[in-house]
Formats: sequence, structure tokens, C-alpha cells
Amino acid sequence: MGPGRFSRRLVNLAAGLPAILKGGARTRQLHMPGTAGKGEEYMKVLGNTQIFGIMGHPVEHSLSPFMHNAAFEALGIHAVYVPFMVKPEDLGKATLALRALTISGVNVTVPHKGAVIEFLDELDPSAKQTGAVNTIVQRNGKLYGHNTDASGFLLSLHKDGHFDPAGKKVVILGAGGAASAVAMALAGAGVRRLVIANRNKTRAEILAKRVQRNFDRETLPVALDESRALYWLIRESDLLVNATSVGLKGTERLGINPNSLHRKLFVFDLIYRETALLKMAKRRGLKHLDGLGMLVSQGARSFEIFTGKRAPFRVMKNAVEHALKFIK
Ligand code: NAP
Repeated sequence: MGPGRFSRRLVNLAAGLPAILKGGARTRQLHMPGTAGKGEEYMKVLGNTQIFGIMGHPVEHSLSPFMHNAAFEALGIHAVYVPFMVKPEDLGKATLALRALTISGVNVTVPHKGAVIEFLDELDPSAKQTGAVNTIVQRNGKLYGHNTDASGFLLSLHKDGHFDPAGKKVVILGAGGAASAVAMALAGAGVRRLVIANRNKTRAEILAKRVQRNFDRETLPVALDESRALYWLIRESDLLVNATSVGLKGTERLGINPNSLHRKLFVFDLIYRETALLKMAKRRGLKHLDGLGMLVSQGARSFEIFTGKRAPFRVMKNAVEHALKFIK
């Protein structure tokens, strides 16, 4: 099967499943939109098909359905992965529904990663440390929360960025769920100094305290603004990580002074598009990395938690790359 067809099937799958599942077609044969009638191009959803998904608001931009459905198909696992749009006020009900509908597992994305914790039975050490859950698996009626963003970030930094954070000075922009995972991962990897710069400085202070409760590291909360303080903190750093959501929309910009981006700085933007920050880093000839590798690494780890099987990393990466081409 050529890559084009592979991609189209996945796009169809992601687009078509929610509506069909809503209609209760869990026990019927599932025809992909636009492919019905071509025998090899539809999958079977049967009474025993395992259901996985992602809960978020918004969720329609998510690439996770492409990754996970491709992985299920590659390993011949009888399962589907669908998006669940869950409004913040419905999170409790949605989590109860996971139990009632015996959904096997879900990923959790913006803005639920922290709020979902109170509805779960147990947390893994990484979820406890970060105070954020991006993977829930259901076993024997119990919901277990995990955080794979932290390990996904670190793996990508090492493998894709060839950057070892031990002993380095780092500035993290943001103090939300992703920033928390990044901060804990970097503190655990032995960074020398961690600056947490956030628009809402109180959130930066809360995250800095959380890091210090877990690790003995110099951690400095500052306001994310155009001040000279942040300028110098970036100038003195080895690594700058954007863990804010600024850049998701093409025109958004962080108020970072371009001159703070010195020649030896490594820039990592968690967003998996070329943001204004990454363009700036590129123009200045700096080493830089987008969030695609992290996305696949955290997704691969989630897949392993969901299935107990080794994730087909290359298949998952290809699926995301094809989906991105299709979406752009
Ligand atoms: P979140 O918990 O909602 O946090 C959002 C962060 O962005 C907060 O620090 C917020 O600051 C900041 N922010 C939002 N708008 C801003 C603005 N206009 N100016 C300055 N700061 C602003 O979200 P999250 O889960 O941490 O996700 C953050 C980003 O990481 C998203 O873009 C997400 O797609 C990305 N991400 C990527 C991966 C991956 O695998 N590549 C994994 C996880 C997350 P305030 O506190 O001041 O509101």
C-alpha cells in the first residue's frame, strides 16, 4: 500500500469514526467515507472492538487519531481511536462515561490535563510529579493516569535534537501542563538552572515550587514580558523551550527580544509547526526543533501503556507526517 493511500485511509478514518460511533454502529461494518464498496478499504468495527480516544477542547486539530489508528492497523490490533470533544464543565461526566462505556483508554489534551486528576483512581509517578495527566487507561473498572509528555519531550530532545540538558541553563516559556512536564523532565535530567517565564507570574511561581519540592535545582519564576531581566536570562541560557500555546495560530508571536537569541542557544518549540519563534531561530542559524518528535514519542509511550505492546514508532511518525501534509 503506497503512502498516499495509507494517508487517505487514515484521514477518512479520523473524519468518519465519531459520527458513526455516535450512531451506535459499534457492531456493524464500518465504511470509510468515500471508500465504501472497495472491499479492502474498510475496517470492521465489531462488538469486541476496543475503543480508545482523546478528550480535549478543542480536539479537532489533534493528530493523535492518525498516529494511533495507524499503529493499531500495523500491529493488527482490533481497536479504534476517536476524538471526544469534552467541554471543561463536562469533564467529570465524560470521565464517568469512560467507566460506563468501558472505553479502554484515552489521551487527555488542553485544557483537561490537570483537572482530570480528581476523577482518576491512581496516578503514575510522572503524573504525580507534574500534576498533569495525558494518558488514562482503564483496567478492571479502575482509571489509571499517566504522563508521557515528560518522557516524550526528553526523548525527542536527545534523539532528534542531540542535546544533553545535564548541567545546562534553561528558560521555559509557559507554566501550563506541558511546561510542567518539560520542567520536571529537565530537572530530573540534571539541568543547572531552570527559569520559568509565564504571562501569569503566579502560575510560574507555583510551578517553580512544584519543581523544588521534587528536585534540588535552582529554579527561578519570572514574568513573560519584554523586560531586560528575561532578555539577560535567555542570553545566559543554553536551551529555550516554548511550552506556551503561542504560535499554534500562524500570526501569534511571543514578546521575545530577537537579540536575546544568541548563537549557541538551542530553541525547542513544542508546537509542531514552524512558529514565528522557530523562524527567528532558523534565520539566526540556531539549532532548533519543533514538537513533532515529542508528539510521536509521547504518543508511542501512550500506545504502549494502552496495549502493552511495543509501539511501531516509524509507522506512527509517518502517519503524522502524512496527516500534516494533508491538513496544511
Ligand atoms: P495549557 O496548560 O493551557 O497552558 C498554556 C500556556 O500558554 C500557559 O502558560 C499560558 O500562560 C500560555 N499562553 C497562552 N496564551 C498566551 C499568550 N497570548 N501569551 C503568552 N502566554 C500565553 O496548555 P499546555 O497543555 O501546557 O500546552 C501548551 C502548548 O504545548 C500547546 O501549544 C500544545 O499544543 C503544546 N504541546 C505539545 C506537545 C507535543 O507533543 N509536541 C505536548 C503537549 C503540549 P498563562 O498561564 O499566563 O495563561
